[in-house]
Amino acid sequence: MSATASTILSVVRFRPLRFLRAIVTLAAGLALSVAFAACSSSSASPETSPPVRIASQVVATVETDPVPHRGDAADDPAIWVNPTDPAKSTIIGTDKKGGLAVYDLAGKQIQYVADGPMNNVDLRRGFPLAGGKAAVVTALNRATDTIAIYRVDPQTRGLVDVAARRIELGISSYGSCMYRSPRSGKFYLFANSEKGEVEQWELFDDGRGKVDARRVRSFDVGTQTEGCVADDRLASFFIAEERRGIWVYDAEPGGGTSRTKVDSTDGLGHLRADVEGLTIAYGPNGTGYLFASSQGDSTYAVYRRGGAHEYLGSFQIVDGGEIDGTQHTDGIDVTSVGLGSAFPRGVLVLHDGRNDSGNQNFKLVPLESILQS
Ligand code: CA
Ligand code: CA
Ligand code: CA
Ligand code: CA
Ligand code: CA
Repeated sequence: MSATASTILSVVRFRPLRFLRAIVTLAAGLALSVAFAACSSSSASPETSPPVRIASQVVATVETDPVPHRGDAADDPAIWVNPTDPAKSTIIGTDKKGGLAVYDLAGKQIQYVADGPMNNVDLRRGFPLAGGKAAVVTALNRATDTIAIYRVDPQTRGLVDVAARRIELGISSYGSCMYRSPRSGKFYLFANSEKGEVEQWELFDDGRGKVDARRVRSFDVGTQTEGCVADDRLASFFIAEERRGIWVYDAEPGGGTSRTKVDSTDGLGHLRADVEGLTIAYGPNGTGYLFASSQGDSTYAVYRRGGAHEYLGSFQIVDGGEIDGTQHTDGIDVTSVGLGSAFPRGVLVLHDGRNDSGNQNFKLVPLESILQS
């Protein structure tokens, strides 16, 4: 199937051949729909990914405009893949002192939503809303401990508030991420607190074209958490316990509290506290990669997505000719879908805690410069 050709790995293998590159870019576009459609078919048996080499030092090719607030203000990005024109996809970034910014793939800010101090942002396509399908974006408002909910307007590429009401968490808000169940097709938000408490909320159309939510599960991780990511096909939920490491839980609401350690900061693992953002690059049939921000040493660890989450290596984003490297990174997001000529095999987006040219911002790195064959 052509979608197979769009995997990160086969893409990298064909790099020197120009016409194949074009085919692969096309296939990546097709894979967009395939990838998301695959959410409904469970593929719980992880397969072995072909070998990949993790580059040790890479550079960003794009940086976004700085956020409007000074100090530790930017935090977490989410990528919206434009289904009709992937080159016109966007990055949604949090400014935890004021709201959410939307950037194009050249890094230019195209919208700023001053809705309050938003922490962690995430997005899921295909959400059933008002008789159609919408890309829904969530963030947590730390001033009100509420769930902010938007949809992406595909025409303007901007965010439109679709929260049905003021949805208050039962915990003090900190990190969050979204999940679409491969079993039920339902959409969820995981919210967590600085105490390591987690709440899972089901998101649904309220019947009037807005999105409402109900709490379906609560559990404790232990100590402070923030970064998290859910695997929409393997039904797993990864969360960073900042001082300790990464845990994986069952992402289903009935999944209980049993968990497995993925990696640790204890000197035996590959992370240096704080452990911050987590994100997943999907390949077909359960393959792909989990990325983690190891904030304490400004590196990023890469793991195999399924199975025992084998550690594959770590890398840094270093200074390039034009664009500075990344330090003290909080949130990250990745897609393995090709986004036009600038990011033909996908992109990794990273918060930069120390931008050389102003307030904090986000850096964009072509995925194939990290995952090398
Ligand atoms: Ca920070
Ligand atoms: Ca944190
Ligand atoms: Ca920097
Ligand atoms: Ca943070
Ligand atoms: Ca810069």
